[in-house]
Amino acid sequence: MPYIVALTGGIGSGKTTIANEFAKFGVPIVDADIIARQVVEPNTPAIDAIKSHFGKKIITLDGKLNRGLLREIIFSDPNEKRWLNALLHPLIQQETQKQLHQSNYPYVLWVVPLLIENNISHLANRVLVVDVTPEEQIQRTIKRDNISLEQVNNILKAQVSREKRLSYADDVITNHTKDSTIQDKVANLHNKYLSLAK
Ligand code: ATP
Repeated sequence: MPYIVALTGGIGSGKTTIANEFAKFGVPIVDADIIARQVVEPNTPAIDAIKSHFGKKIITLDGKLNRGLLREIIFSDPNEKRWLNALLHPLIQQETQKQLHQSNYPYVLWVVPLLIENNISHLANRVLVVDVTPEEQIQRTIKRDNISLEQVNNILKAQVSREKRLSYADDVITNHTKDSTIQDKVANLHNKYLSLAK
């Protein structure tokens, strides 16, 4: 069973950027966002259940989930949100366990943005937090996603605070803008995880 390192951080902190550096060493990456999409791909049991529950309107012409509409529905109706979570959480958990345990590498990097919010840090052997200032998060996210300051602030408010996230960290990697030492920091952590995994 591989050693599991959870990589987490707030929106725009640089999780993908850091994960890509680990991947260069050949570390297998399990991405919670990808899994959340995989379980509702066309022709999966979950998308069929969602269609039966919400009606045909929830599926686009090419058989995919109409995410915008689903988001609207669950935003305005907590019961529907509970229904959806009850359907998806076990499927996501199951797929996550499968992907985490199918590797032969000594450790796996599990990229999971909502590790703390969803109370699942106990599923990892170690927690690595990507840390930046809220100002950097805001600037990067506005630039990348072309959204308003208000929208970024709302997302930030829905996530745990920087302090709370850091309180869960076994390791912290700072990723300040234009930091040129990221590769060295990742190399050091990689060596540390290889020896911890032994
Ligand atoms: P999200 O959770 O929102 O998907 P994330 O934590 O995966 O974000 P990235 O997508 O890696 O973050 O980075 C957010 C943006 O900031 C990207 O456009 C990325 O290119 C940029 N970025 C990441 N690290 C740095 C850095 N050190 N200096 C400048 N820009 C950076």
